[in-house]
Amino acid sequence: MQTGKIGVTTENIFPVIKKFLYSDHEIFLRELVSNAVDATQKIRTLSSFGEFKGELGTLDVRVKVDPEAGTLTVSDHGIGMTAEDIDKYINQIAFSGAEEFLNKYKDSANAIIGHFGLGFYSAFMVAKKVEIISLSYKEGAKAVRWSCDGSPEYSMEEADKQSRGTDIVLYIDDDNKEFLQQSRIESMLKKYCRFLPVPVICGKEQEWKDGKYVDTDRDKVINATEPSWMKKPSELKDQDYIDFYHELYPGQEDPLFWIHLNVDYPFTLTGILFFPKIKNNFEINKNRIQLYCNQVYVTDSVEGVVPEFMMLLQGVIDSPDIPLNVSRSYLQSDSAVRKISGYITKKVSSRLEEIFKADRADFEKKWDDIRIFIEYGMLTDSKFADAAMKFVLLKDTEDHYYTLDEYKTLVEAAQTDKDQNIIYLYSTDTAAQYAYINAAKEKGYNVLLMDGQLDSHFIGFLEQKLEKTQFVRVDSDATENLIRHSDRESADLTALQRNLLTTIFQSRLPEIKGANLLVNFESLGENALPVIITQNEYMRRMKDMAAMQPGMNFYGELPDSYNLIVNVSHPLVKKVITEAETDLKAEVEPMAASVDEANSKIDEINKQLGDKKPDAEQDAQLTTLRNQAEESRKQQTEVISKYAATRNDVGQLVDLALLGNGLLKGEPLSRFIRRSVEIMESK
Ligand code: ADP
Repeated sequence: MQTGKIGVTTENIFPVIKKFLYSDHEIFLRELVSNAVDATQKIRTLSSFGEFKGELGTLDVRVKVDPEAGTLTVSDHGIGMTAEDIDKYINQIAFSGAEEFLNKYKDSANAIIGHFGLGFYSAFMVAKKVEIISLSYKEGAKAVRWSCDGSPEYSMEEADKQSRGTDIVLYIDDDNKEFLQQSRIESMLKKYCRFLPVPVICGKEQEWKDGKYVDTDRDKVINATEPSWMKKPSELKDQDYIDFYHELYPGQEDPLFWIHLNVDYPFTLTGILFFPKIKNNFEINKNRIQLYCNQVYVTDSVEGVVPEFMMLLQGVIDSPDIPLNVSRSYLQSDSAVRKISGYITKKVSSRLEEIFKADRADFEKKWDDIRIFIEYGMLTDSKFADAAMKFVLLKDTEDHYYTLDEYKTLVEAAQTDKDQNIIYLYSTDTAAQYAYINAAKEKGYNVLLMDGQLDSHFIGFLEQKLEKTQFVRVDSDATENLIRHSDRESADLTALQRNLLTTIFQSRLPEIKGANLLVNFESLGENALPVIITQNEYMRRMKDMAAMQPGMNFYGELPDSYNLIVNVSHPLVKKVITEAETDLKAEVEPMAASVDEANSKIDEINKQLGDKKPDAEQDAQLTTLRNQAEESRKQQTEVISKYAATRNDVGQLVDLALLGNGLLKGEPLSRFIRRSVEIMESK
């Protein structure tokens, strides 16, 4: 019997393993089963090259839980190990600077284990003693038993084992009794081993008998040894992909479509990516892309490996070239990983283009579901954006879909303004903006529907990408002004008319919480509405963005500002103008003149003063004049407001415009209703 010390430079590596690798305890099983699968594939390879001439036998891997003995055993019929092999591969683990390294990477068990080829030793995370009983395939080899109790000392002796292969026996320690439960082990195998290339058997299939489940004598195979992504796309039908999707993510709706990845140069990568039908954000985080390394599950934290926008996709990526056992920051800076990420982007965009070209109708049908992927991709990945310019679609309010080029051609003629900008009109809510959409259509304009989650960002993005193109929401101005074919015509009002009208409309504006309304006058034609409310495009966008970005509270807290546009060419407004002029002229004109007089005197004095300070006399003069102006203005406002209070028609016009924008609520709304009834009664 040979005894010795495992060649670790650190005095005692096992406590370190246990302590630092606590969080990822369960990966020990992945490591042991992977070793068993490797050994099995090696014997298969040796046999196919004629280097092993014996019987292969059944090549499976068995995982057995024995709660009474307190053991968990992983058995294979692979190449096995001789005493020399064990000495070389197990005893002599090179481990310099172990503690320093462990400290650095203590949060990532994966990193440490893979980096130092410590796979086998991860068994000590859960076991107080580990035995290896092995018989090598080599001719004349003797079976050997290696045993180690978690201290650096091991023992090795001859053993009695007749069949080729290796049993790894774990004596599970008291803190880890959970790994003696059949169900726990099974679920771990399901997670890490469900697509391994060699059958992994754990326990027996069960059947329902006499009111309970009982074991049958059929072995329970955990894994599918030939997962779809390892097959050639030509071998698979649509239904195979759909079935595979449901196997990965049970209980989901069918995927929209999928992309089969298959490269072997300059790196090896296979996989299938699915475009899921997303119903809510919760699912996005739950069912993520899974990363495999030669069919061994590694992780579903794929940040940095796949392009960011593909975090919304689902499926499997398998590559032996991704350095899986390193920390995430290392992963992101790795050039191989960046190449892979770039490749996936290219593949996804070219596949989308293919689908678009092959079956446009189907692509359009799925557009509402996939636009979030594509818009997100375009916003976050410039290479993808360039490729996607060919197949990204715009949808209008009548459910027609256009490519960017098609849309430009469609609207160019009617929607180019005097500065040669093409104006893309859009709505974010067809119900709320119905009247504006209709008015725009009547003018021969097309209106896009931009109601997606990312559209406020996407609009800004498109404006940058497309030359001389501006997006304008249909309700951001009077329809006549949305696309300016010529310079704005100012409303033709005398100073007195403007003065009267401003105060009359202003004084009939109800107080609206969180909103500012500014009265403007425009000549919009007899057929346009008498009063409309618009919201400035720029301010609204700022507020929309602020709502999505926590850092921009400044804009978020500003009140919404609206324009109340009074159409001075509408007969009802004209009537207000002429009547107000007749009724108020005599009274208001002297007050206005007094204001003007005071102001021009103030100007005169200021001009004389230039940069000099006024002396005491001038100062007193200025104060008197300012008071005069102020006083006359106040009188004026009082007189006009009193008059406005009698003009229920103005109240109606203002309230109707507010109502059309969903701004009339609460007390002002009930006042409007009462007033409307009174008007009807008085007729
Ligand atoms: P790694 O698998 O990363 O090389 P391990 O510590 O898991 O590191 O294993 C070290 C070596 O021990 C393996 O490379 C292999 O040669 C040998 N080995 C481990 N398990 C088995 C097994 N079940 N059958 C045959 N050889 C094995």
